[in-house]
Amino acid sequence: MRPAGWKVVLAVGAGAVGVYFLVPRLVAQDPGLVAQDLVYLSIGAASTICVLWAIRVRRPAQRGAWYLLAAGSSCFVLGDGAQEIYEQVIHTSLPFPSWADALYIAGYPFLFVGVFRITRTRGSAGSWSARVDAAMVCVGALALLWQVMMGSYARDASLSGLGKLITMAYPVMDVGLLFIVIVSMMTGSRRRTAEQLLIVALALILVGDLVYDLMVLYGSYANGNVIDALFLLNYVFVAAAAFHPSVADPYPTFKKIRAQTFWWALIAGAAFVSPVILLISGVSGIQVDVGVLAGTTIVLLALAAVRTKWLFNGLARRTSQSEERGQALHQALATQQALENDLRHQAFHDSLSGLPNRALLHDRVQHALEASPRQSGTVVLLFCDLDGFKAVNDSFGHQFGDDLLVVVGKRLVSIVRPGDTVARLGGDEFAVLLENVDNVDAATVLAQRIVSVLREPTVIDDHQIQLSASVGVAFAVAGTTTETLLSAADAAMYDAKEHGKDRYTIFQSFMRSRVIDRLMLMNAFQGSLQRREFFLEYQPQHSLADGALEGFEALVRWQHPTLGRLEPIRFIPLAEETGFIIPLGRWILEQALAEAADWVAMDGRPLSISVNLSGRQLQERNLLQDVRTALSFSGVPPARLILEITETVLVVDPEDIAEVLQQFKDMGIRIAIDDFGSGYSSLSYLRQFPVDILKIDKSFIDPLEDPDSEGAAFVQTILGLAHDLRLQVTAEGIEKQIQRDTLTRMRCHSAQGYLLSRPLSARAAEAYIAGPVGVGASSQEDRDRSTVSMPSQ
Ligand code: C2E
Ligand code: MG
Ligand code: MG
Repeated sequence: MRPAGWKVVLAVGAGAVGVYFLVPRLVAQDPGLVAQDLVYLSIGAASTICVLWAIRVRRPAQRGAWYLLAAGSSCFVLGDGAQEIYEQVIHTSLPFPSWADALYIAGYPFLFVGVFRITRTRGSAGSWSARVDAAMVCVGALALLWQVMMGSYARDASLSGLGKLITMAYPVMDVGLLFIVIVSMMTGSRRRTAEQLLIVALALILVGDLVYDLMVLYGSYANGNVIDALFLLNYVFVAAAAFHPSVADPYPTFKKIRAQTFWWALIAGAAFVSPVILLISGVSGIQVDVGVLAGTTIVLLALAAVRTKWLFNGLARRTSQSEERGQALHQALATQQALENDLRHQAFHDSLSGLPNRALLHDRVQHALEASPRQSGTVVLLFCDLDGFKAVNDSFGHQFGDDLLVVVGKRLVSIVRPGDTVARLGGDEFAVLLENVDNVDAATVLAQRIVSVLREPTVIDDHQIQLSASVGVAFAVAGTTTETLLSAADAAMYDAKEHGKDRYTIFQSFMRSRVIDRLMLMNAFQGSLQRREFFLEYQPQHSLADGALEGFEALVRWQHPTLGRLEPIRFIPLAEETGFIIPLGRWILEQALAEAADWVAMDGRPLSISVNLSGRQLQERNLLQDVRTALSFSGVPPARLILEITETVLVVDPEDIAEVLQQFKDMGIRIAIDDFGSGYSSLSYLRQFPVDILKIDKSFIDPLEDPDSEGAAFVQTILGLAHDLRLQVTAEGIEKQIQRDTLTRMRCHSAQGYLLSRPLSARAAEAYIAGPVGVGASSQEDRDRSTVSMPSQ
């Protein structure tokens, strides 16, 4: 590896300095001294040439400054040269002042400016304090120098005015050097190596000059003195600095080094120079220049005042900064605290209603159960689920649904005691936790109140809505855990739903098995189609005008391997939830069309076959294709197929559903709206769907037992509007003759219900078609016979 250029310069330079001192010993007297002077000159000249060369090679960041350094060195070399010319060429002793002095003194400004620019730093505003500190030291040094040497020059009568000026210029220049060295040392924690080498060079001349001046003053200097080494090494270090690669680096950023005791001592020492000199003179009678000492003291004090002012300013700035920082910190802490509180609140509260959420309820139930052994009362949990909320959401939109949930939350809060917890568990599920309940009746009274307050009509955005809720109540007993209490309230709530909704049920242990049932049923779906566990029953539909059989509605049943026959209410919602309805629905369609393919009325009229579709099936892309395949496979003409869609399904995605229905319609299939009246759609809303038949929900047919009731008027209105819209109307769930009569009078088209026939097995349906049927033709006996409904295998 090649040694770095600057190291070579240092090594060669040090060698040359060695040679300088060796020459007089090797060469005889006079020529030896001449040779020594020549070596001195050559080292200076070589240093200057090196700097110029380095500027080309190294391309320093501050080229101008390096040229100034080269110029400074040139002046010193020329000064040395001039001295040689006097002594060796003109053979006169050096006059004073001479050209050599002019050149020496001219060299310093170049040196100052060059070094000053090279050692500049970025963002150096703060370096002014370092400069003032350095100036204080320099003023002290000046006072000392004046006392030691400059004063005696000033008083030297043998010197001309110019001579005095020049003699004094040397120490003044030295003080200048001192200033630069101190400033760069005070600001120099990140100095580039090139700068460090330059500062060493300056320090060398500084010391060299001072010693030289003193030696000259006391007449003890001669050429070849060991002090020359300092000047020579100065040249060497300048050249080495110029060659150091760091010259090309950008300015370092200003960084004032921490005020060290050393610097403080130096500055304080400088301040004491003048008074100490005065003291010594006062004691010992040594002559002093009071004017100069007073002057330096004034300057020192002025600098100290400036420095103190800056110190105070800095202190005030820092205090206000730290105050600001403290305030900002305080604010940040407060924000963080608020954020944490927010997050904690969000984690444990429902964002819509602001009520505690499931997690917080869980927590509170746990605490309540832990505390209950120490209390007289017990813990009660009420689960509350709105009935038919999904339909409201689907009909009026989610915003409406959300508003309604908020109202429900508020109503619940308004009827509980202050210490009770009302939580929203998600969706339309709420819970109320009662702690320390002494009286069982208190809990059931509250459950009843919940049911009745939620039954009260609510008006939102001009819509009046009447909801109901199913409430499950669970009491904690010894050993009840949080989980068992929650699941007990849940099971009781399901029980309330199963028993007609709009009521409360108190948990009993058998109910827990229902929850397990649900899970068991979900598992039982697996492979049930392959095991042929489902079968269809067919409920006849008759014309009310002439009693003629019009067709059948296919209704699915599940012959569960262990639970036995299950009605659709037990498994259709679960099948919809799990998606099992898709393959099941496909099977129902194929089975219904296959079984009913040959069913023709006795008089040859084709009989319709109605198949129920769930909302989930309508969203399935393959539905259309499935229907086409089933139709073509069975050979049933599309005009015989009626697809029944529950009213509430229509509102979910009206555009898409209307499109699907239109495609069925185009194929010649008829569409019936099932359970009409149970949802919230209006007849005019129906107009956007290609509907053929309305099936009025059983709940509207029931009141027809009393033909003058409000319910009868309602059915009459529906029938009127349906006539206008040219829709066929089928009444569902006719059980009584009076209902049939009323409907016939109201000119309802068709009917379906236990009065006419219960759903029949496929075989029984075939017998039914062949049998003597007609409205009113079947006796009670016939009807009872027709309920025999076994799976058709
Ligand atoms: P739905 O489509 O409205 O079917 C009519 C329901 O009312 C049938 O109950 C039927 O047995 C019953 N019903 C008929 N006449 C009377 C009567 O006079 N009195 C009483 N109390 N009930 C009567 P089911 O078979 O239990 O079906 C219940 C619901 O399950 C159906 O209501 C339908 O929404 C759904 N469902 C049944 N089969 C299927 C199916 O194959 N696919 C789909 N997606 N849903 C089905
Ligand atoms: Mg139906
Ligand atoms: Mg129905």
